[in-house]
Amino acid sequence: MTAPQERESLYGLLPGELETLLAELGAPRYRADQVLHAAYREFAESFEAMRQLPAGLRTALAGRLDLSPAREVRRVASDDGLTTKLLLAMADGTLIETVLMQYPPSKPGGRRRSTVCVSTQAGCAMGCVFCATGQMGFERNLAAGEIVAQAVHVGRLLRERGEHVTNIVFMGMGEPLANYAATVKAVRILTDPRCFGLGQRHITISTVGVIRGIDRLAGEGLQVGLAVSLHAPNDALRRRLVPTAGPHSVREIMAAAKRYFERTGRRVTFEYALIAGENDSDETAGELARLVRGTGAHVNLIPVNPTAGGFRRPARQRVLAFERILREAGVNCTVRVEKGAEISAACGQLRTDEAGRALIAPGEIPVREGASAPARGLLRRRPSPAPSRSR
Ligand code: SF4
Repeated sequence: MTAPQERESLYGLLPGELETLLAELGAPRYRADQVLHAAYREFAESFEAMRQLPAGLRTALAGRLDLSPAREVRRVASDDGLTTKLLLAMADGTLIETVLMQYPPSKPGGRRRSTVCVSTQAGCAMGCVFCATGQMGFERNLAAGEIVAQAVHVGRLLRERGEHVTNIVFMGMGEPLANYAATVKAVRILTDPRCFGLGQRHITISTVGVIRGIDRLAGEGLQVGLAVSLHAPNDALRRRLVPTAGPHSVREIMAAAKRYFERTGRRVTFEYALIAGENDSDETAGELARLVRGTGAHVNLIPVNPTAGGFRRPARQRVLAFERILREAGVNCTVRVEKGAEISAACGQLRTDEAGRALIAPGEIPVREGASAPARGLLRRRPSPAPSRSR
């Protein structure tokens, strides 16, 4: 039998590709629906568990496909239980982080929203100076199946509680548009009604401003939301905070966002990490307002997360003053409610540190559910020299 790491992941296949594979195995086409139903509705963890398939086909599929590339190494929850950070090991041992963020129902009797933040790369090459992931450097791209497997993993957890994934944001480790093909394929699988089946409008892709990727995405015929991490209204400041943004000016990014909106009809969100003394002055707010005003875009202000690295979160009054200037200029604007900062799971704090790496040393590491405060510390045992990440 093929070694597990050499097998393709079922989660990386579109229905048509699975049908082709089944045809090669001599199985009728309708078997694809049975396999996909078992994988995405019943969250089967092995082909052996798909009892509706003939035994021979189960064995043949197991020889060709991997069904469970994500292994949970550690699970930690925030004090309010609404944010859960998962440290997941891919088939080759690569560690990535996935975060589940839950929000109370907006109206009595409603269902709570469960958003999964998925990673698209292990590490990141973009090097944003305030970002823990950016300081790790780049390890490798994730395959489409490894991205989908993160949502499936969380879907399986939620099902145990009678809940399900309602939204997916591509805001975890990595720059999604720098891993373009895998990102778009993952979106297609996640939104295919025969696969994960999430509505396209419930997916948001975040980019630090990869213009070619934004334009390609606009032409995919998808209805996914786009979030652009702007962080600065002018090139000099932006190059300081996002060093690899060099080739792309703020003006070019704004133009690409406008094209995306015009082609897809989806409103673009600009993410703006507020950093004390760096990009939080009244003058900068005024400059940002002039840049965004009239575009119909939304600005999401994210007070940078409290980690080491010399970057500080502005005082509450400063954040509100910045927001007021934008609002008074007619810019749609919100201040992001931070979730999970105490477990380093908030936006801007994902990182695989040395403590995490030790977790995949040979020998099974127990998964801790609902870890207590001391256990949570295991994920950030080493004093973090890296600044926080914010997308
Ligand atoms: S903020 Fe995003 S793009 Fe920038 S280094 Fe971090 S993960 Fe990469």
